[in-house]
Amino acid sequence: MTGIYIHVPFCVSKCYYCDFYSVKSCSNEINSYISALSNQIRSMVSGDIDSIFFGGGTPSVLSSAQIAQIVELISDVGRLSSDAEITLECNPEDANLNYLTELKSIGVNRISLGIQSLSDCVLKVIGRGHDSLTSETAVANARKAGFDNINADLILCLPGENSSVVSKSIDKLSKMDLPHFSTYILSIPEGSLFFNDIPRGLSDDDKQAEIYLEVSAKLRSLSYEHYEISNFSKPGFYCRHNLKYWKCQDYIGLGPAAHSSISGLRYSFPKSVKLFEETYKHSMPFEIALSTLTPEGKVEPIDYIIMGMRLSEGISLSNLYQLFGISLSAEKLYMLEEYKNMGLVNFDGDHLSLTLEGFLLSNRIISSII
Ligand code: SF4
Repeated sequence: MTGIYIHVPFCVSKCYYCDFYSVKSCSNEINSYISALSNQIRSMVSGDIDSIFFGGGTPSVLSSAQIAQIVELISDVGRLSSDAEITLECNPEDANLNYLTELKSIGVNRISLGIQSLSDCVLKVIGRGHDSLTSETAVANARKAGFDNINADLILCLPGENSSVVSKSIDKLSKMDLPHFSTYILSIPEGSLFFNDIPRGLSDDDKQAEIYLEVSAKLRSLSYEHYEISNFSKPGFYCRHNLKYWKCQDYIGLGPAAHSSISGLRYSFPKSVKLFEETYKHSMPFEIALSTLTPEGKVEPIDYIIMGMRLSEGISLSNLYQLFGISLSAEKLYMLEEYKNMGLVNFDGDHLSLTLEGFLLSNRIISSII
């Protein structure tokens, strides 16, 4: 079973912290993109598919008819399983009842709302186009439209945001019975507007750790499972599509800037809508379509370790050996025992995972064993 990621490279405006590839949305450009995307789907998609993820950019700039056209085409050229997870990232300001009801009727069954914060002044500081009331209405609309699988994207440690602000946001949203939260700590990548104009009120490392631990404790106390370093779920609501990334399984990325992992090899398409539209004026045989992507090497043991250790279930060293023929040296095994004594990892000689405190030091721990 493979997953399909569709990068929708359009946004109404640029949020100040964001470096994801997107251009300003306009209807002519979107129509040409849909036409090229359809040709790429005809060229590259086949076989069994159990997840589709519309990410971006802002997938909710597409109409429900355009989303329906893409989902139908995928199920025409591939075998879309009857219980496939179909996720659409949606900005709260786009989540009106009519739109969500149409999405539900065409088979979208998971909505990921880019809420980020429920503080109106914080939302303004980071350049988001919605306010907290719009987010709360979006959640209510998603429920009314029949979605039970709803994710709230929150960014932790936003400028001026302390743990009590985050805690209140989580309280409010969890009362709306959301089954999934993604909570990424703010990063300021090169290419974002904040990179050249650092905002005031950022949290230092200690403050970030405090907020992260408090968020985890709060969500776990509300019966969410902290199943991935930044993701929390009620039972049965893990994100099936994202698990493919964390488990280094195959997925096909479509659209400009999308990444793929196909038969253990990684690829990407350049960050250019124009090049994408020129490349996919027509459909083509799979091998030729593959040659339009930039090769990025094999899935390596290091990828298996880095991605797998993001999950609370961690990795198995015997699987690592079976997949890549790699064993950890005696020196590294000794180091793992040390980390275990420090309460940073769980390790039984085969299964290895990070504890909550270990999640905070994941980069340091992982780089010392690879
Ligand atoms: S955060 Fe999302 S909506 Fe904002 S610019 Fe980035 S991709 Fe667009």
